[in-house]
Amino acid sequence: MTTERTSYDVPPDRTPVECEYCGRPFENEGLLALHRGRVHAAAVDDEERDAYDAAYEAETRELRRFRLKALAVLILAYFGLLMVYAVV
Ligand SMILES: [Zn+2]
Repeated sequence: MTTERTSYDVPPDRTPVECEYCGRPFENEGLLALHRGRVHAAAVDDEERDAYDAAYEAETRELRRFRLKALAVLILAYFGLLMVYAVV
């Protein structure tokens, strides 16, 4: 973890949620909950810990779905090219 201050370019039409510990802006509550649970794990209370767990679960489900889709595309491409090779 770095203690270096970094500035963030937030588009003017966005209303970010900011971390109450370090001031870093995030696009939504879920990303903020993940940040709090990772970076400020020692400082968070039970409610914020529960929010982190829920956001982590949602992120894990989404990642699993993405991996399944990527695998399906890979298998389709493999067998598609195999059929093209067999025919041509
Ligand atoms: Zn923070």
